[in-house]
Amino acid sequence: MEKVILITGSSGFIGTRLTLYFIDLGYKIIGIDVKDKKINMDNYIHIQKDLTDALFVSSTLDLIKHYRVIATFHLAAKIKVGSSMSNPDKYYNNNIIGLYNLLNLLRIIKSYNIIFSSTAAVYGKDSLTPYKETDAGEPASVYGMTKLMGEEMLKSYSIYGFKGYIFRFFNVSGEYIAPIHLIDIVIHNLKQGESITIFGSDYPTRDGTCIRDYIHIHDICVAFNKAFIKGFDHNNFLIINLGSSSGFTVKEIITRSIQILGKDVTIINGDKRPGDAVATISDISIAKDLLGWSPEKSLDDIIKDTIKTYK
Ligand code: UDP
Repeated sequence: MEKVILITGSSGFIGTRLTLYFIDLGYKIIGIDVKDKKINMDNYIHIQKDLTDALFVSSTLDLIKHYRVIATFHLAAKIKVGSSMSNPDKYYNNNIIGLYNLLNLLRIIKSYNIIFSSTAAVYGKDSLTPYKETDAGEPASVYGMTKLMGEEMLKSYSIYGFKGYIFRFFNVSGEYIAPIHLIDIVIHNLKQGESITIFGSDYPTRDGTCIRDYIHIHDICVAFNKAFIKGFDHNNFLIINLGSSSGFTVKEIITRSIQILGKDVTIINGDKRPGDAVATISDISIAKDLLGWSPEKSLDDIIKDTIKTYK
C-alpha cells in the first residue's frame, strides 16, 4: 500500500503551507478540507469533505482505505476567538464533533499517529509570565475551551492506540491570506489607508494593550518535520508549545509595522474583545529539549513576509 500523510484543513493557512512543505520533502499527501482544492500537484490528493458531516466516516473510508496513512496532521478547525464567543455551537461542532468523526475514521483504518493543532488560548486569562505546558488550562474563550477538550479527548483515546504530539501554537503569522488576525489586519489597513481598531487599551500590560507571542509559519512547518522525524514511538501525547518565547503588545505590532512599511495610520481605541486573554507568551524549553526546535524567524521577518505576500 502506498504511504501517505493525511492533513485535515489542507486548504487553510497552516494546512496549505504544511502540505506544500511535506510534498517538497518527498511525501504524498491526502488533504481533507470542507473548502475546494488549493494545491494542484502530483503528490497531492484532495478530498473535499466536512468532518462534521454525519456521513463523513462512511463516505471517506472508500477514498482512503487503499492507502497506508502513516500520520495525520489535524488542522481543520474554527480558530477565531471573537466569533467563538458569539457562535459557540459552530465551535463545539467543528472542533469536537469533527475530531470525534476523524478519530472514528482513523480507528477503522488503524492509523494512530497524530499531530494535533492546539493553541495558546488553552492557557489562563491573565498571566504575564511565559506559559509552560504543565500550567493549568483555563481558557478565556470558547475557542480555547474546544481545543483543550480536543486535547483531553486525544489523551483518553490513547487507550485505543492513538499517540503523537499536541502542538500549542502561539500566534502563527508570516504569510498574508486575508485580514483575519492582527498582523494581517495591520498590514492590510496600512496598505489600504484604513484605520486600525485596538481591542482594549486598559489591560494591565506595559502599554495597556494585549500581549501575544508571534511565530512564523515556516518555523511551524519545521517543528512538524522535527516531530515527524522523532517519530511516534511513545505512548500517549507529548504536549509542546510552539512560540517565540517573546511577547509583543498590540501597539508594538502596529508601531513596528508602521516603521517597516513607512506609512502612518489612524488608530482607534475600541472596546475589549470578549474572550481575549491579557497575555500569552510561550516557554519553549520542551520544544528545544525534545525536538531540538527553536524559531529561526524574528518578528521583523514575520511582518516583512506578510508585506511581501500581501495581495
Ligand atoms: N486585535 C486588535 N485589533 C484587531 C485585531 C486583533 O486589537 O483588529 C488584538 C486582539 O484583541 C488580540 C491580539 O490583537 O489581543 C491578537 O489577536 P488575533 O485575533 O490576531 O489572535 P488571537 O490571539 O486572538 O488568536
